[in-house]
Amino acid sequence: MNIVLFGPPGAGKGTQADNLVKNLGLHKISTGDLLRDEVKKKSLLGIKIKTIIDKGEFVPDDIINSFIDKIISNKKFYNRLIFDGYPRNLPQAEYLKNLISKYNQKISCVLSLDVNKEILLKRILGRQTCSKCGVIFNEYFKPSTPKNHSCDLVHLKKRSDDNEKTIIERYDIYLNKTLPILNFYKKLKLLYEINGDAEINQIYSQIQVIIASLDA
Ligand SMILES: [Zn+2]
Repeated sequence: MNIVLFGPPGAGKGTQADNLVKNLGLHKISTGDLLRDEVKKKSLLGIKIKTIIDKGEFVPDDIINSFIDKIISNKKFYNRLIFDGYPRNLPQAEYLKNLISKYNQKISCVLSLDVNKEILLKRILGRQTCSKCGVIFNEYFKPSTPKNHSCDLVHLKKRSDDNEKTIIERYDIYLNKTLPILNFYKKLKLLYEINGDAEINQIYSQIQVIIASLDA
């Protein structure tokens, strides 16, 4: 089973990918990780990638695609991949489609976590971590109360970089870039839209139902 996973920043895509890895024995492909690993190796390619990233530019498709090729052609990962953050554009989606069939595999499903912008904002902006006990709260969805938390409220910290404008920008960029790719998969009848407004466990239940329906 090969799965492609989509979701806006902050939608909990990483958590769902980890669930799939753990429960289905899939191998997660994250292009971000692949690029970082290559940079760490300080290979010629790694140095080239670092220069591109440092300039704030996008790593070209041919470099990204060559990493994906190496993995899909590796028998160790035959038909058990989960793609997180790839494909990022239509040419990459076309490339993946051809590559997958070249190596006699198929994409089983494309899962898209759909999250309402307001809910996403509240999830991210409302997040509070207790610096004393480490428990994570959310002032909108799971506020700290004397019943569930005994620490003093001064210990509740918010992440400083989570401001509203940045989140909305990231969300809109994601939607604009991803919509054409989702339409591409919709035409191939591979797209499954998931209600990402639900709790983490409920989201995974929806994914399980879809996967069970594929096996049937
Ligand atoms: Zn605490």
